[in-house]
Amino acid sequence: MPLETGEFSPSTSADEGSQRCGRFIATPRGRRHPLPLFLPVCQLNAPFVPMDVLRDVHRVDGGILNAYFLYKQRALRDQFDAGLTLREYAGLGDGLLVTDSGAFQGFVRKLFLDNQTIVAFQERIGTDVSSPLDLVTPPGDKRSVAEDKLVATNKRIREALPLVENSLLAGVQQGGRFLDLRRRSTEELAAMGVKYLAIGSLVPFFNRNHDLAFVGEVLRDARAIVGPDVPMHVYGAGDPVEIPFFVALGADIFDSSSFGHYARKRAYMTPYGAIDRAAVLAAGEFRCTCRICEKVNDWDALFGDEPRLAEHNLWTICETIRSVRAALAEDRLDAMLAEIVERHTAWFPDSALGTTWESLHDG
Ligand SMILES: [Zn+2]
Repeated sequence: MPLETGEFSPSTSADEGSQRCGRFIATPRGRRHPLPLFLPVCQLNAPFVPMDVLRDVHRVDGGILNAYFLYKQRALRDQFDAGLTLREYAGLGDGLLVTDSGAFQGFVRKLFLDNQTIVAFQERIGTDVSSPLDLVTPPGDKRSVAEDKLVATNKRIREALPLVENSLLAGVQQGGRFLDLRRRSTEELAAMGVKYLAIGSLVPFFNRNHDLAFVGEVLRDARAIVGPDVPMHVYGAGDPVEIPFFVALGADIFDSSSFGHYARKRAYMTPYGAIDRAAVLAAGEFRCTCRICEKVNDWDALFGDEPRLAEHNLWTICETIRSVRAALAEDRLDAMLAEIVERHTAWFPDSALGTTWESLHDG
């Protein structure tokens, strides 16, 4: 049953809401970026949405690039050695530039690269946030494996911290499906003094029918441990229906290539959940106001046009971030979440979003 706004006891009290609005991340190079923010995954050789469109049309807050892919291209690495900067290469203007280390690639195949080399490379090319070679810990890992990976990841972060000066090093939380290990991971990272927290290996958990239960516990715990000031990045989060809830639970920074992958499977993002072609008419009153949808009179053609669908999806994510910022500024994030739950549940009665969010509230 759809929930009324009044049934929600706020997860973020008015005071906390006031504290959280107007937050920003300050980089060692002196730029400030408002939070929350979304970073599209930038694959410059085969972008879902061209970089100049990301920059000039959508005014994205920045981007995330894979340092391993940059490093392994010999000719490109030579250009970096000759003075090319990541900012020049990315072409995203003044946005926040985050690099990930290639840890996920290392998860599926062996990388001929070590932690110190890849962190030093990220620092050298001028990233704003560099990432260690952490050990991806999928939900299927048993406790002893998850614990070993957490210990090894934290050792690599400790080793990498002295290597960065002009970038922030992401302290990457691991721990797999074990909440106590994730707590321990964050506590150790906080003790090391990390200034940027990234939550690793969480994607499989929120990909399960929008179930917020475990994700919610992880984010709340992490925020409580690191305090209000440390930016908290959820790797791989890019569904606009989930992002506002993650913000309410303490997260600030999101990255994904979801806009392109959803387009590839012909899924049309909305703030209330992604829908297929058949559901567009059923969604009835919902109208997107992006530059793609404003001009659409043939929906079948749009669903068959991957680049245009990807751009619509990207706009939906960016617009969601803008809506969350506005809601935080006006202290009405809870009302926004209630509206999302109501509409999402009406469209997707079997989704776990509403019920798990309600449990987090009551818990
Ligand atoms: Zn649109």
